[in-house]
Amino acid sequence: MAETLTPDICVIGAGSGGLSVAAAAAAFGVSTVLIEEHKMGGDCLNTGCVPSKALLAAAKRAALMHDSAAFGITAGNVSIDFAKVHAHVHNVIASIAPVDSAERFTGLGVRVIKGHARFRDRRTVVVGDQYAIRARRFVVATGSTAGVPPIPGIDTGPYLTNETIFNLTTLPRHLVVIGAGPIGLEMAQGFRRLGSAVTVLEAAQPLAKDDPECAAVVLDQLERDGVVIRSGVKVAGVAHAGGNVSVTIAGETGEETIEGSHLLVAAGRKPNVDGLDLDAAGVRYDRGGIFVNKKLKTANRRVYAIGDVAAKQLQFTHAANYHAGLVIRNALFRLPVKVNKDAIPWVTYTEPELAQTGLTEAQARERRYPVRILRWPFHDNDRAQAERETHGHIKVVTDSRGTILGATIVGAQAGEMITAWTLAIAQKMNIRAFTGIVIPYPTLSEIGKRAAIDFFTPSLTRPLLRRIIAWLRIFG
Ligand SMILES: Cc1cc2nc3c(=O)[nH]c(=O)nc-3n(C[C@H](O)[C@H](O)[C@H](O)COP(=O)(O)OP(=O)(O)OC[C@H]3O[C@@H](n4cnc5c(N)ncnc54)[C@H](O)[C@@H]3O)c2cc1C
Repeated sequence: MAETLTPDICVIGAGSGGLSVAAAAAAFGVSTVLIEEHKMGGDCLNTGCVPSKALLAAAKRAALMHDSAAFGITAGNVSIDFAKVHAHVHNVIASIAPVDSAERFTGLGVRVIKGHARFRDRRTVVVGDQYAIRARRFVVATGSTAGVPPIPGIDTGPYLTNETIFNLTTLPRHLVVIGAGPIGLEMAQGFRRLGSAVTVLEAAQPLAKDDPECAAVVLDQLERDGVVIRSGVKVAGVAHAGGNVSVTIAGETGEETIEGSHLLVAAGRKPNVDGLDLDAAGVRYDRGGIFVNKKLKTANRRVYAIGDVAAKQLQFTHAANYHAGLVIRNALFRLPVKVNKDAIPWVTYTEPELAQTGLTEAQARERRYPVRILRWPFHDNDRAQAERETHGHIKVVTDSRGTILGATIVGAQAGEMITAWTLAIAQKMNIRAFTGIVIPYPTLSEIGKRAAIDFFTPSLTRPLLRRIIAWLRIFG
């Protein structure tokens, strides 16, 4: 007979979102059950952020060794042992895994259950015939998996997704990537820099969710690295033969076949809603995920959905963590909460990095703001010159009064530098704040101050103001 548990909170899925809810609930002394059917840590730790960034770190080392001659340093013959790159990636996962482990969460006071969870009715979740959990609140945090488009022939042989690519122990000779979003392009640059030939196929625009002007800087670097990017092409068919793969694409000039050794599908994500029996719980959903309101509540008021499985939300680890914080405030303390997607930054970890926070220029114009655009290039920054990292720029979007609406940074350390702008947007700050701030010299962050000073340039009619700006330009 099934054991019946009656916790305050039952969390389904021990990935970025679910672990954050469980850890916070346990810290407040709330009885919590956490159910995971696969690996603790979910996508981010096992098949997403962590292995991808570890692989990119190896690829960056390889690129640095090839490109250091301008610094007066040559590394001789650079050799890449891909089996050791694989070991490095898995060592990084292993070093982080204890933080997400069942043992740690049990120690925090969470009841961790291994198994597949599904709803039996509106207020009961079952795990096989072992457990029935009747909780006060449920949090569905089941994440997403790679969406595989219905391309003729794709299923007739092997293809890689984020779940399998990090298991490779030999370097692909020619990796064909379907999808030029952040995941596809990070992997494209990583494998190219480690020695694979790489061709990326994209039906629409690469990095379509990012500011096109800044995305172009990334695409330019990928092409310099030797990644072939074919955008505006439809993948018409896939054939597998002799361990290789032929991908037929249809573009403006007709059909063409690309021969590769491996195929990676990175063409979007599919929320994990199957097998949860959401209908039994009265939770509404479709292929895009579980429908949630601004509080992340589903159609069943006892049930929240967070992270990648929630429809129309940003699919990032920090977005899942942010959702978790909102759910804790609402479910435990009955505080009013409202999800704000504009406050969530994101980064594509190619080299150069591409970081976005707040509104892009296009979004600001769509919302009919009287937009001002401020830019400053990396090549006018002394630290960037010293590091030979002069590729890229900052682009800041403000309204006509200088309220900061958004910022995009493309260049070295963009992911680190975007935080100041995220804080500024969250605090509804004016661009003036960046003109007065003292920034250590020489740092890349100075580009933000330089862009900010530019806000005041066109309105310079008064001589004193003009002198102040000139002074700031020289000594600021
Ligand atoms: C290659 C790649 C690179 C990425 N890089 C980044 C990055 O650099 N930065 C970033 O912010 N984001 C990145 N992401 C996205 C990030 O991984 C996800 O947004 C994040 O993991 C979502 O967290 P989650 O909690 O919603 O789901 P997940 O982390 O996927 O966790 C869901 C968990 O639920 C479990 N589960 C599912 N169904 C059930 C069930 N019925 N019963 C029990 N358990 C169940 C699953 O096994 C899984 O462990 C990347 C993703 C990929 C694929």
